[in-house]
Amino acid sequence: MRPPRAESRELTELKRLKLRQPELSEAADLHIALLQLQHRVQVRVPTPWIEVAPDWLKTQHTAGKPLLRFEDIPLDWSDFRLVFRQTADLLLRFGAIEPDHHEVLLLLSRAGNTLDPVVVRWFETAAAPGRRRDELPPALPVPTEVLDQVLGLAMRPFLARCAEVVQQRADFSTWTHAYCPLCGGEPEFGVLTSTGDRILICGRCTARWRFDAPTCPYCGNADPALLPSFSSSDGLYRLYACDACRRYIKAYNAPVGGRPVMLALDSVATLPLDAAAVQRGYGG
Ligand SMILES: [Zn+2]
Ligand SMILES: [Zn+2]
Repeated sequence: MRPPRAESRELTELKRLKLRQPELSEAADLHIALLQLQHRVQVRVPTPWIEVAPDWLKTQHTAGKPLLRFEDIPLDWSDFRLVFRQTADLLLRFGAIEPDHHEVLLLLSRAGNTLDPVVVRWFETAAAPGRRRDELPPALPVPTEVLDQVLGLAMRPFLARCAEVVQQRADFSTWTHAYCPLCGGEPEFGVLTSTGDRILICGRCTARWRFDAPTCPYCGNADPALLPSFSSSDGLYRLYACDACRRYIKAYNAPVGGRPVMLALDSVATLPLDAAAVQRGYGG
């Protein structure tokens, strides 16, 4: 199946970025490979059926509850395990994970009865906190941040398909929280629009919602003296840091860029901004 046009454009832009900034080549190549893998899967994910009746949406928004339940995700477990394995392979090939951890991830991908509950737990920790509070997570010989990274990338095509479908039908304008209205995930990137709004993009499902409050989306700090921000020299990107939790979020300035945000492209293009933030003592 042919990839959608937006994906081709992002791949083209990533290749252009490599020519312009060869120091970003390796990161660009990793993201090109990840995008190709995810789109190969995403085009095969069936259309999910997700309840978006206005009344239901309003109830969920008032309660601050994300819309998506795990059982709504059109997840084919064998497809998922394959993406999980291929994602781990890619990360190993680009030196983004240790060979020991890769081996554990491969074993895990073959043990559905171990992996499947880990996936459900990963999803529900943000989407339905409290639902599995009494269960202890299994002890796995791989660091949580490595496992979470691979889970997030492998679940992306399934969750992004849900976001794609829901965003065409649902109105997220009454959502006022800093976490994702669809899956409860944390924002990973922002977009500044021509109307002066700040849109956040979910790091798990890529759903988008408006979040204009001059507060840190990670800890809720609203003290302007503790919210420094700075721009890239070309004005394309802006970084919002927080001196309370020491985290930061980057945003693409769409009116300056003149094209839509592209998550993979803009993440790679802003790696120098990440380095500047880390140097100032902030962490992603
Ligand atoms: Zn989300
Ligand atoms: Zn904060």
